[in-house]
Amino acid sequence: MHLIGLRDMAAADIRAILDDAERFLDDRGEVTTPPDEKQRLQGKTLALLFMEPSTRTRVSFEIAARRLGGSTVTVGAEGSSLVKGESAADTCRTLAAMGVDGFVVRHHDRQLPHVLVDRLDTPIINAGNGSGEHPTQGLLDALTLRRNFGLKGDLSGLKVAIMGDIVHSRVARSDAHAFAALGAEVRLVGPRRLLPSEDRLEDWPATVSNSRKEALKWADAVVVLRIQQERMHGQLVDPHQYALDWGIDTTVVDRYLKPETVILHPGPVIRGVELSDPVVDSDRSLILKQVTHGVAVRQAVLCRYVGS
Ligand code: ASP
Repeated sequence: MHLIGLRDMAAADIRAILDDAERFLDDRGEVTTPPDEKQRLQGKTLALLFMEPSTRTRVSFEIAARRLGGSTVTVGAEGSSLVKGESAADTCRTLAAMGVDGFVVRHHDRQLPHVLVDRLDTPIINAGNGSGEHPTQGLLDALTLRRNFGLKGDLSGLKVAIMGDIVHSRVARSDAHAFAALGAEVRLVGPRRLLPSEDRLEDWPATVSNSRKEALKWADAVVVLRIQQERMHGQLVDPHQYALDWGIDTTVVDRYLKPETVILHPGPVIRGVELSDPVVDSDRSLILKQVTHGVAVRQAVLCRYVGS
């Protein structure tokens, strides 16, 4: 079994993974591993193939694998045969021949996870394929919303705005599919050039808005995204202007947000651009909870896809 995206995942499966993930959080909401899961990956090796930068996702998978008794090997773009021209698919086949039991893969090529699924029998977990999907982020964000609002099964009735650089964001795509599958209303909001074009809207289970004020007043939760300058090929966004037009500082919070509205961000946060310092560190911010939930979700995912 492979985890490539949430777009085609049934709501029941998403809910089942979130329920599993709850088992990896204790009463205080901190990461734990139940005794019967501590050997779940014993004798198994997970290869973490990260061809784009990552802190949270890579380390979180590493911690999750170790908590389940497994071991990890990390292969990055630097220092591997990829710099000699080997394809990522051949690197994976080489590692599979060494007895690797699962792959966690991040790569700029949107097609790579699909190529790997065709060529390998080993489980593949997509940790970000360009601007495609980032399924474990979608799952951990859904878990964060479900827990914050005390919802047991799904996210019915919740209004979630995803704000910023939607068009380049794999997080936006996985979040939108997860939230909508679980019954939330999703609205994409940002400057026009960073929103999906009209003819692409059918890919998104969401409405679209170009008004920060209107979306923030409407939302129960706002997922704020980083401006992904690295995917803009020269047509960069001016961070200062973006902060003025689309950033959230305490003035924007006081003016537009309902008292119970929470703010999420997948990280890395560029402080002072999409969120001001006090907002990042405020009680509304669930950013560190998302990180904690990431380890729980990844333990659940590794059990299901690699440890079964
Ligand atoms: N960490 C997330 C990702 O890899 C979001 C970001 O980079 O802005 O997609």
